[in-house]
Amino acid sequence: MEHRIATDAKALRSYLGGKWQLGEERGAPLVNPCDGTVLAWAGSKGLDLAGALEHAREVGGPELRKLTYAQRAELLGRIADLLGTRRDAWYEIARKNSGNTKADAAIDIDGAIFTLKYFAKAGAKLGDAGRLRDGSPIRLAKDQNFQGLHVGVPLEGVAVHINAFNFPAWGLWEKAAVSLLAGVPVLTKPATSTAWLAQEMVNAVIEAGILPPGALSILCGSPNDLLDYLRLGDLVAFTGSADTGLAIRKRLGQDVRVNIEADSLNAALLGPDAAPGSQSFDFFAREVVREMTSKAGQKCTAIRRVLVPAEHAVAATDAIGAALAKVVVGNPANPTVTMGPVVNVAQRQSVEEGIQKLSQQAQIAYQPNSFSPVDANLEQGAFVPPTLLTLNSSSDGEIVNELEVFGPVATVVPYRDKQDAFGLARRGGGSLAASVFSSDTAFLAETATALGPTHGRLLLVDPSIGDSHTGHGIVLPSLMHGGPGRAGGGAELGGLHGLWFYHQRVAMQGSATTLAALVAQAADPSAE
Ligand code: NAP
Repeated sequence: MEHRIATDAKALRSYLGGKWQLGEERGAPLVNPCDGTVLAWAGSKGLDLAGALEHAREVGGPELRKLTYAQRAELLGRIADLLGTRRDAWYEIARKNSGNTKADAAIDIDGAIFTLKYFAKAGAKLGDAGRLRDGSPIRLAKDQNFQGLHVGVPLEGVAVHINAFNFPAWGLWEKAAVSLLAGVPVLTKPATSTAWLAQEMVNAVIEAGILPPGALSILCGSPNDLLDYLRLGDLVAFTGSADTGLAIRKRLGQDVRVNIEADSLNAALLGPDAAPGSQSFDFFAREVVREMTSKAGQKCTAIRRVLVPAEHAVAATDAIGAALAKVVVGNPANPTVTMGPVVNVAQRQSVEEGIQKLSQQAQIAYQPNSFSPVDANLEQGAFVPPTLLTLNSSSDGEIVNELEVFGPVATVVPYRDKQDAFGLARRGGGSLAASVFSSDTAFLAETATALGPTHGRLLLVDPSIGDSHTGHGIVLPSLMHGGPGRAGGGAELGGLHGLWFYHQRVAMQGSATTLAALVAQAADPSAE
């Protein structure tokens, strides 16, 4: 298929070893998902990745560690302020390269700025310390003078951050904020298909001279053999599909610390008490629709499985379908559009195939009658109709519980009783998030033990927070993000607790006087 090339299309440069550089080849195209227009290219062939990592370790690390936590926090605040002054430019790139509506772009871009500001403020409280401590000294023996304390010292390597295509801004800064605050230099690798926004943001920060030399690098294009040059003290924080996460884990030796944020079959659960007409029912249906359509369903935390009491399955399907019928799909340049395309035609095809696979066990309960996206090129665009399925009663739901369809798609799964509902929610194989809607607070509290072991985050919605909660799919910097099993087993953010990933936790043993000296130089992140 021939694609138009935008007149201002350019090859994206990487910032490595303190220099902007182009790969030997133009590399992979980045396109506008509304019509396939090529916007840029990203190629990394021939770039000196070993040298880039060494520069970050040898120059960026020492420069960052000369600063205190509070000083590094101040740099994060300056980055947030700078990014805030150019929001319109970032929104425009997000619209063109990711097909984002304004609401979608806000999640990514304003979410990034909010997260940077959060860590700027929280980090300032760590003051002039150069390391962390976990609590206070404890006595270790009969002799009261012999004591112990866990201390965190920043790792002396480089943090490689590999990000998914769906959050080019937030993915970059939610990781970089914590790493830079910890004093660990960053080499960030955005997903190629949407690398433009990340590259422009890094460009702005480098041009402004906010960070010390070597503190921030960016690789645009394929990672090539980047991971082969990592060694003890280095870290990898990865966000992306479970398959890539597994491949990265296998490739890295035991010397390199790894955090994996992978894919997830998140569930929303309508409580047994929440009949049609109840507030919980309405809040539930609204949240499912929001999650299916926000960013065209391309959020790792999006609701994929919609668990409802069997007797309310028809009513729930009807309510969700009726709300989906009001969604206006099309080119987000048109202000009436409320849902844009998925990221590119390959992703569209993957979603279409996913719907076909789900259809082996589930029936399509809602899809628009005639799919005609506004201001769109159907053939070269990447538009997918919002699609709700219902699991067939004869099916064991194997596919629904195992296949992540990364688009505006969810499946209603009827359950018999509470235990059945909990069992189904747990079948995701480890999930990032589940939300539960009920007026029965005892039932909501029960989910902590019923769903906690297989989930990273639980949003428990009784009607008192129906309008005020931040949403099933929204990740907040003050709480831990990550989930067990196929979700990767990783943990990011979580307020200042997230700093521990970038520190070596050392058990220090010594006299009370020595440990008091250590305490004086260390900040306790749990005191935020
Ligand atoms: P992906 O294909 O797994 O790619 C993710 C990143 O890994 C990209 O930057 C990619 O680079 C890079 N990559 C691919 N192969 C690699 C390798 N062998 N070594 C090192 N890096 C490699 O995922 P995606 O399609 O971009 O993102 C969608 C997926 O991410 C979904 O499954 C979603 O659930 C998941 N996700 C999870 C979270 C979370 O927090 N848990 C958040 C967002 C998204 P290239 O682009 O250059 O190939």
